[in-house]
Amino acid sequence: MIPIDLRSDTVTQPTPEMREAMFAAPLGDDVYGEDETVNALQTKIAEMFGKEAALFCPSGTMTNQIAIKVLTQPLDEVICYKGAHIYKYEGGGMFFNSQVSVKLPEGNRGRLALDDILKNINLEDVHFPKTRLVALENTANRGGGATYTAAQVEAIARVCQQNKLGLHLDGARIFNALVANEEHPFEHGQYFDTISVCLSKGLGCPVGSVLLGSQEIIQQAKRIRKVLGGGMRQAGFLAAAGIYALDNHIYRLAEDHQRAKIIMEELIHLNFIESIMPVETNIVLANTRSSEDLLRFYHYLRDNHVKIGLTEATQFRMVTHLDFDNRQLNRLVELIRDYE
Ligand SMILES: *Cc1c(COP(=O)(O)O)cnc(C)c1O
Repeated sequence: MIPIDLRSDTVTQPTPEMREAMFAAPLGDDVYGEDETVNALQTKIAEMFGKEAALFCPSGTMTNQIAIKVLTQPLDEVICYKGAHIYKYEGGGMFFNSQVSVKLPEGNRGRLALDDILKNINLEDVHFPKTRLVALENTANRGGGATYTAAQVEAIARVCQQNKLGLHLDGARIFNALVANEEHPFEHGQYFDTISVCLSKGLGCPVGSVLLGSQEIIQQAKRIRKVLGGGMRQAGFLAAAGIYALDNHIYRLAEDHQRAKIIMEELIHLNFIESIMPVETNIVLANTRSSEDLLRFYHYLRDNHVKIGLTEATQFRMVTHLDFDNRQLNRLVELIRDYE
């Protein structure tokens, strides 16, 4: 039996080397700013993206929520893709925490075009909320891991600047995008006011996300993190995993992308599959002809110890990651080919 879990790239276990790095980390009380491992992680990742400062937080939901809070005032409006994590998967947090409203363009595989932004900027009129912030996702989760290139981000940033809008990046999987497009974090970092990076997805850490921005923004972000209950004490245990992952787990993401493409090419041959989003990174999103077809396939895989994500009544998701190797890939391919 070969168990396979492709529900998300969050299911990974820390590697033995990562665990060693965690146990060896010097620790302190981070609420006093005295955990040198947390400080080292924050400095390291801020420098990678060319930002002034960074803040280590328990989750990507928290880094996103803090960013929205810092960059908006109550009654402002945020523009984001209609399936954006900040809108769809954060429990309505931005309305609760920041008291903002939203415009939700259709987008193209989870990405916003310039027009999606321009058409949704409200006129200066008391009837309308004040458009204040644009939030992008790179890679776009509900877009099947589609990416923005630095050139695309630059064009969006210019529109935001011309219209005095803030720009936030939900970069839960930004390293997948960078590896896929062979770009440097620096090329993207310069365009955003705030960037959220997840360490617990493709990078394989057990816990944690980092928010990046200017000194001023991160100073304010620290106050909000405390209010949300996100101030952690000897968090260096977790930050050490982050440092290890930044040094060792970035370039291997290309393997995850390769495996996701192979899965897509196998799935295409199944006749109950209606469409599959083009695979750019580590997410395979496939639509089935009916929900019965989907459930039958789902149970077949489950009976063979393969877990996948059900994302809609007629859509499933497979996400490749650090704990999905070639042996598991071969087994999955065999199961797909044997499916009748
Ligand atoms: C996973 C994810 C997050 C953050 O999720 P947490 O579980 O709160 O860390 C944010 N945005 C996207 C697009 C994600 O996929």
